[in-house]
Amino acid sequence: MLALSGYPLGLKFRILDGSPEAPAGHVSPLVSGPLDQLETLDRFADGLECATFEFENVPLKAIEHLSNHLPVHPGCLALEKSQDRWVEKEFFRSLLIPTAPFAPVTTHEGLQQATLEIGLPAILKTRRFGYDGKGQVRLNMPSDVSQGWDALGSQPLILEGLVPFDRELSQVSVRSTKGEIRHYPLVENFHRKGILHKTIAPAPGIAPNDPLEHQSRQAMEKVMEALDYVGVLAIEWFQVGASLVANEMAPRVHNTGHWTMDGAKTSQFENHIRAILGWPLGSTEANHHTVMLNLIGSHRPPEDWLAIPGVRLHLYGKSPRQGRKLGHVNVLGNTAMEALSRSETLLDWLSE
Ligand code: AMP
Repeated sequence: MLALSGYPLGLKFRILDGSPEAPAGHVSPLVSGPLDQLETLDRFADGLECATFEFENVPLKAIEHLSNHLPVHPGCLALEKSQDRWVEKEFFRSLLIPTAPFAPVTTHEGLQQATLEIGLPAILKTRRFGYDGKGQVRLNMPSDVSQGWDALGSQPLILEGLVPFDRELSQVSVRSTKGEIRHYPLVENFHRKGILHKTIAPAPGIAPNDPLEHQSRQAMEKVMEALDYVGVLAIEWFQVGASLVANEMAPRVHNTGHWTMDGAKTSQFENHIRAILGWPLGSTEANHHTVMLNLIGSHRPPEDWLAIPGVRLHLYGKSPRQGRKLGHVNVLGNTAMEALSRSETLLDWLSE
């Protein structure tokens, strides 16, 4: 989607992926091979003007190596902070951005101690490589502790207090090499089995100058400036009453920003490209009300979706597999009610 948005701006792309089957290879030349192998990285970097990534589990060493040869945005610092949930929460804490109570866990006894400090219910998570709700176990009572430890205890963990949130929101923003920052409106997110199911953009009930919007943008600017960040960055929030509590950040274009492809004046993908090249950023205003629905596991044929007014289809060229994000639809409306009621009629079409 980055390459597709950059071609009309006169750019050419090369993709690096661990797999020779990577769907991005359908739209741009693909270099594949182990991402921690210097030969693969050098083959990829040869002749490029700059590089970026859209996956935060890329090895830090790979980005460090590439950074010795060409500008890579966002840089190593942002990647390092967001690859480890404990490091990330310590970073939020250092910027006075509220988070759930948390504690690092390395032993069974340490986990028992942490549950006493943080209280139950809590969520035990792997510090690294978790995504889409993977690598997480909810601990409701003391008797769940051993089971949680058996499931995840072979790696460094973090215990987080369960946040009694009213709803989940996220902020997608962009900062360019020139320091220009733009914010998309806050959006509301719904998860199923830990995977993003739906995004409503803009989030209902939030006025343009809402204190929540202000809080979110201020936190985002602190994070971006502390990291000298370049590109699109997302922060996932829990809304608790009139406050926001940070769940996590993602140093990349984000699934909760996919609505911008059809519902905003400039998509997050185009703005990411503009940012890393130091070009003027485009407007982040919404020009529609949008409900983004993820197509997970399998999906109906394109012609079914395309027959519905206001539906824009984006398939990723991936083969169907349970729990896999295969694409998304953006359901547009002139009002939030219109987008919501159109999307309601489509919920039966989602397989997961
Ligand atoms: P994550 O992979 O950390 O984003 O977690 C996936 C989903 O689990 C989140 O979007 C929330 O719905 C839920 N979740 C994760 N951490 C917490 C927490 N500390 N308190 C409440 N819900 C959580």
